[in-house]
Amino acid sequence: MGFRLGIVGLPNVGKSTLFNALTKTMKAQAANYPFCTIEPNVGKVEVPDERLYKLAEIEESEKITPTFIEFVDIAGLVKGASKGEGLGNQFLAHIREVDAIAMVLRAFEDENITHVEGSVDPVRDKEIVEIELIAKDLESVNKRLEKVQKIAKSGDKKAKQELEILEKLKEILENLEPVRKYTGELPEEVLNYAKNTLFLLTVKPVMYIANISEKDLPEGEENPHVERIKEMAEGENAPVVVINAELESQLAGLPEEEQRELLEAYGLKEPGLNKVIRTGYNLLDLITFFTAGKKETRAWTIKKGTKAPQAAGKIHSDMERGFIAAEVISYEDLIKAGSWNKAKEKGLIRLEGKDYEIRDGDVVYFRFNV
Ligand code: GDP
Repeated sequence: MGFRLGIVGLPNVGKSTLFNALTKTMKAQAANYPFCTIEPNVGKVEVPDERLYKLAEIEESEKITPTFIEFVDIAGLVKGASKGEGLGNQFLAHIREVDAIAMVLRAFEDENITHVEGSVDPVRDKEIVEIELIAKDLESVNKRLEKVQKIAKSGDKKAKQELEILEKLKEILENLEPVRKYTGELPEEVLNYAKNTLFLLTVKPVMYIANISEKDLPEGEENPHVERIKEMAEGENAPVVVINAELESQLAGLPEEEQRELLEAYGLKEPGLNKVIRTGYNLLDLITFFTAGKKETRAWTIKKGTKAPQAAGKIHSDMERGFIAAEVISYEDLIKAGSWNKAKEKGLIRLEGKDYEIRDGDVVYFRFNV
């Protein structure tokens, strides 16, 4: 399964516009590989990384394969959704499956587009969404609490421990705070329990996407809503990406040359989508390593901290089982050397063992034996 980022937000903030731009861009770029929509609301998106193309160039590779993350368009979140308003609980099934959340906040004014809350106020909107997620988490905690309390009464030691964890989580949520706020403080076991047993929503990392008007491009510096979003996000150490979803969807349909011209006209260096994708990638704590050669140069996604054999296992399970060693060089050093073979001649390729932690940008050749 790929890494998934769920797009959430109130209605009419630009979620679908953004999601469609993401998937359209992907389709346009994906001449070499079939675009795949896994489910109607899931799009698999290339992680833009120019290192991949530079590597392929020096290795004269016949094929280039990027790495992907998945975006899920999660509709149906409105005030009261946790109690069944709007599409009610349907959104929850989708949001449980994602690894991180991208919350779209409306920072554009447009009289023709109704705001469900009657005015543009992204920080209030964020609170509304957050409260729904907290309410849902509290429900999950309380349900479990009821069960575990019964077992704990019989003196079961494990149940007593679980009860303690549940009560801690309940306390946080009852204070109307998201569990992620305590990521640095809570013991690992509590966090893991919140993530992997209860599948809580508010433990997932969050990035904010400020959707601004065309007139506020490139960065929305003159837009007071953006400033407030940034202030709010800084308080929780969350990243903010500023985009104009409508421009993104226009860009998505254009050939590259015209895209560049349009971007330049707005003072932008790259599509906002690239920033969204890369920020999502970082938020998920992901890094990229490469395999490079004449046949194919390819990017691979792993979690930060993955060791060489497990990274090899991403390519093929045989490679993990029969792992012997990894030949490694950093992207920068390889580019400086000019090619893998030249780097080898100069003795720049290191040999690393099973405890080596793969770093972002490593170019790797795995030695294995089955
Ligand atoms: P969703 O309900 O959050 O998925 O919102 P949509 O993506 O469907 O957008 C709702 C409406 O707002 C549509 O009519 C969009 O064309 C419009 N919209 C989206 N982004 C922008 C924007 O950046 N500026 C303006 N003016 N309108 C936008």
